[in-house]
Amino acid sequence: MRDEQHTAHEQAPAGDSEQITAHAAMCIYCGEAVIYDTRQVTDMEAAHQQLVEHDQQCPKNPLVANLDAARASIGRAHAAKNRAEEAELAAARELDEVRAECDDWHQAAAGLSADLTDMGQQRDALLAFVNEALDAAFDGGSLDGATIQDRAEEIGLLTAEAYDPERHPDELASEFDAGDTIYVRQPWMVIQAAGDES
Ligand SMILES: [Zn+2]
Repeated sequence: MRDEQHTAHEQAPAGDSEQITAHAAMCIYCGEAVIYDTRQVTDMEAAHQQLVEHDQQCPKNPLVANLDAARASIGRAHAAKNRAEEAELAAARELDEVRAECDDWHQAAAGLSADLTDMGQQRDALLAFVNEALDAAFDGGSLDGATIQDRAEEIGLLTAEAYDPERHPDELASEFDAGDTIYVRQPWMVIQAAGDES
């Protein structure tokens, strides 16, 4: 309606140029017009500004379409980047899990290796003692209790300790006073002996 009024105004009789004060600024893409009064500079500026704003979103402006396509493309690129970052994070988490698992295996392997070293040393001590006993037998000799105890201590099968009723077996109490020197088997030998007895 307003446009029609202004158009009517424009069609005022030619000749009286002062009456022709309304002009239309028109979108070159879709033809939408903005009417302004040439007598008021602010109106003209406002009309141009309005037209510029319209141009920037005119559905028939090919640049707007390009811009929309570019925005959509940027949006897809952002989404792809986010997916890539998420995938990277997931991969990093997976790598951490694998590393942790690897550390566990390394620790387990180190533990087994230490066990093997211990078992090798235990076997060497037992072999040293057994071979001495066998050599004595083959030579026609014999080992008395004191010799057996001394050699076992030297080889490392027995350890000299001060008797302590708190720490040592009850059955020793009748034979020893606190502080007496006693000889105890290595813990791994006690475990072996307990296994054999059962
Ligand atoms: Zn337009």
